[in-house]
Amino acid sequence: MGGIRIYRGADQIGGIVTEISNGQHRILIDFGANLPGTKNSKLSDDDLVEKVFGEKAGAFETDAVLFTHYHGDHTGLKNRIPEDVPLYIGQLSKDIMEVIAKRVDYMREKNGLDEEPEMPVIKRMNPYWNLKSWKDFNGIKVMPLVCDHSAIDAHMFIIELNKKRILYTGDFRDHGTPGEETFEKMIREIVGKVDILIVEGTMVSREDGTTVNKIRTEEELEKRAIEIFNAHKENVVLVSSTNLDSIMGFYHATPGDKAFLCDPYQAEIMRLAIKVRNKYFPNKYSYKKRIYVLCPDENEIYMKELKKYNNKKTHCDFMMAKPSIYLEKGFVMLARPNRNPSIKCGRFEERMQQMKDPFITYSMWDGYLEDGKAPDKAIVNFVKNRTDKEHMEQLHVSGHAYVETLRKLMDITDPDIIIPMHTENQDAFKKHKLLTKYSDRIRTVNGDEIFEV
Ligand SMILES: [Zn+2]
Repeated sequence: MGGIRIYRGADQIGGIVTEISNGQHRILIDFGANLPGTKNSKLSDDDLVEKVFGEKAGAFETDAVLFTHYHGDHTGLKNRIPEDVPLYIGQLSKDIMEVIAKRVDYMREKNGLDEEPEMPVIKRMNPYWNLKSWKDFNGIKVMPLVCDHSAIDAHMFIIELNKKRILYTGDFRDHGTPGEETFEKMIREIVGKVDILIVEGTMVSREDGTTVNKIRTEEELEKRAIEIFNAHKENVVLVSSTNLDSIMGFYHATPGDKAFLCDPYQAEIMRLAIKVRNKYFPNKYSYKKRIYVLCPDENEIYMKELKKYNNKKTHCDFMMAKPSIYLEKGFVMLARPNRNPSIKCGRFEERMQQMKDPFITYSMWDGYLEDGKAPDKAIVNFVKNRTDKEHMEQLHVSGHAYVETLRKLMDITDPDIIIPMHTENQDAFKKHKLLTKYSDRIRTVNGDEIFEV
């Protein structure tokens, strides 16, 4: 006996927890918090933790929690996992999470917030064992594979349970830097035919969003960014600090005569990504020009740390940014809206005030904007009065697979059963015109039952 239970995340985007059990043991995949703005979640974060680890939880022994990637809707409740449960995540993901935790813990302490620090649990995470090789959790065998997503270093898993082969995709896409061919090759050569496909379907319910901008790949994003950055002297880019494909695209799209700027936290994340990905994707993950670091003082600890990596051979060149230079020269600045309610005007908002006529490249989900599905106050304030065509353009590539990619995945893996997740509309899977061939294989699940395997 045993099977698959998606505690949360089968019929909503984010807040994911999946259980794979064999009757005695279980592994969990992801332990995510509800995304801010999630409406009508059937289970609160507290109830979810209680259900998975509380007194009434099943008698399965938990052998591991495997995180697909670092996004909060997949890792956000990590502090609530009992300390004796082993945790796994990709090495680069762990490194990036440490950079984030350092900053978050520092800010919490500085602002006197009485919240548990993030760092200890991240330190506790193990990097994945050798990729493309199996690990046996008391009869539940798992093989991790690196896949493309807006989080760098995301993973999908092949799982063997009760002689059945399962592919658990997590969040993925095939239109990022590794590209379509790499994805197809991996699915054909390593995954092959599966019995059960557990697949994310964000874009099945969000497809309307893709009509806002016609850009569909990271390659197209970089090309359009070159045009925008050439057309404006003062460029401000709003992009998630861990969406590295796009960030590297903006960096490489910065014209030769303009400065590229970001804060030390962002610079450190870029450095980590370049270090690991350079050997696989040297065109994208490489130093092309100086990275001007926005910090108030040459002797600031972050600045000093970054400068240690300066190297003529790799062209790594971090230098403190001086407003007198970049305001004169023109620039591309990666920015972040102020999220500290006790500060009226954030650092980037202050910098915007020094500019004459900044142009915003908005590279995030359009749902966070004022008229979007889940307006984000900080973002709405940041772009206020600048959302007209003269002052802002939306230039964003989805982190999730387009429906054509889902179809391709189904064609190659030929699953007997397809379980959708990470979607606001499970039924849309059955009805979507590209997926009708598979409509009778689709099984929708709810968090209260185990789908037997
Ligand atoms: Zn994600």
